[in-house]
Amino acid sequence: MNQSPRPIKNVLIVGGGIGGQSVAIALKKAGINAEIAEIQQAFSVYGVGIIQMANALRALDAIGVADEAMRRGSPYGMVKLCTPTGFPFGETGVPPMGRFPSHNGISRRILHEVLYAEAVKVGVRFRMGLTVDTIDNRPDGVDVHFTDGSTGRYDVLITADGINSKVRKLVFGEYTPNYVGLSVWRYPFKRPAALDTGYMFFGKKSRVGLIPMTADSMYMFVVTAEGEKPQIPDDMLVDKLKAYLSEYPANLVQDVIDQITDPKLVNYRPLETLKMPSPWYKNRVVVLGDAAHATIPQLGSGAALALEDAVVLAELLQKDEPVEALFEQYMKRRLDRCMMVVEASETLGKWELMEFNGQPLPEGAHVGAVMGKTLMALTAPI
Ligand SMILES: Cc1cc2nc3c(=O)[nH]c(=O)nc-3n(C[C@H](O)[C@H](O)[C@H](O)COP(=O)(O)OP(=O)(O)OC[C@H]3O[C@@H](n4cnc5c(N)ncnc54)[C@H](O)[C@@H]3O)c2cc1C
Repeated sequence: MNQSPRPIKNVLIVGGGIGGQSVAIALKKAGINAEIAEIQQAFSVYGVGIIQMANALRALDAIGVADEAMRRGSPYGMVKLCTPTGFPFGETGVPPMGRFPSHNGISRRILHEVLYAEAVKVGVRFRMGLTVDTIDNRPDGVDVHFTDGSTGRYDVLITADGINSKVRKLVFGEYTPNYVGLSVWRYPFKRPAALDTGYMFFGKKSRVGLIPMTADSMYMFVVTAEGEKPQIPDDMLVDKLKAYLSEYPANLVQDVIDQITDPKLVNYRPLETLKMPSPWYKNRVVVLGDAAHATIPQLGSGAALALEDAVVLAELLQKDEPVEALFEQYMKRRLDRCMMVVEASETLGKWELMEFNGQPLPEGAHVGAVMGKTLMALTAPI
C-alpha cells in the first residue's frame, strides 16, 4: 500500500490559460510538481476585460491571488440594468461574498500577468511553443510524446486547452462546439467619470455592457445576432459596431462612440458552447475549464468555472485515494454546477436571439429570474 502523503507527485497541464495556470499554482502550492505545456511560443492575451464575480474572486483567493487581481482590476457592485436611454430598471450579479465585492472587472492581460507571476513565484514549469503529440493513458500513469520530440511520464494529465481541446479529441473523441447564432463585439475605452459600476443596456437588436477594468479604463461588449455566416471583414468592424450603438441614446454609450476608430481594437467573435458529457476523465487524463464546459458570456462566468474546477481538482489530487475515486468526486462537485451555468447561458442566449430577430419570447420567459437564480446558486460552496 502506498504510504506517501502525496501519491500524486507529478502533473502535466496542457494549456496555460486561466484554468491551466490556476490549477498549476494550486498543485505546486500543495507540493505537487506541475508542468504546463502551452502551444503558444509566447502568451498573447487580448486587451479587453473579463468580469470576475464574487465566486471567481473566492476561487482566486484559494490560490492566493484575489487581492492582487482586485488591486490591479476594478472592484464594483451589482450591474445596473438599463433601457437604451439609460433608465435603470433593475440590477444583477452575484451578491458580495465576505470581503469579496459583487464583481471585479479586470483586463484579461492583467489577470494573465497576475496568474503568471504567481505561477513563476511558486515554481511552475512552463514549456512554451509545444503540445502533446501522442498520449499513452494507462490506469497507473500517462506517457506523453511532445511535438518537439521530447517525452514525459506523469501521474496525471490535466487538459485545460480550451473549447477546441486537442487532448479531449485524442483521448475522448470528437465533440464539436455549438454556434449559438450570436456574436460579441468588444472594445477598450478610457473610463468615463460617470461609470460608477457595471452597466447593461437592453436594446431591440443588441445588448450593450460597460465594464470597469481599472480606475481609468473600461471595456464595452455588444451582443448581436449575425445569422448563419457570422464572419465580418475587418474593414467593416468599426462601422458595424458604431451602427449597433446608434440604438442607444444613453449618455454613457453616446459619449464613447467617437473613440471607436481602430479595427484592430475591435475584438469580434461568434459565440459557441460546448458540453462534454460525463465523465470528464479516462484513466489518468482529466479535463478542466472550457475544454469540458465552454459557455457564452451571458452570465460572465466561464472563467469563474475554470477557476473553481482548478481549486477543486487540486484539492482532490492531494488526497491519498485511488485516482478514479478522486475524479468521481471531481465530477460530483463540478458537473451539475457547470452545466447549470452553460444551460442557463444558452437559455438567455436563445431568448436574446429571438428578440433580436423580432420573435416573441416563449410564455414565462423571464430573463431576470434566470439570471438571479443562477447567479445566486453560484454563492454555494464549491
Ligand atoms: C466573448 C467572451 C467573453 C467572456 N467573458 C467572460 C467573463 O466576463 N467572465 C468569465 O468568467 N468568463 C468569461 N468568458 C469565458 C472565459 O474566457 C473562458 O471560460 C476561460 O478563458 C476558459 O479558460 P480555460 O483556461 O479553460 O481555456 P482558455 O482560456 O481557452 O485557455 C486555453 C489555453 O490552452 C492553450 N492551448 C490551446 N490548444 C492547446 C494545445 N493543443 N496544446 C497546448 N496548449 C493549448 C491556449 O493557447 C490557451 O493558453 C468569456 C468568453 C467569451 C468567448
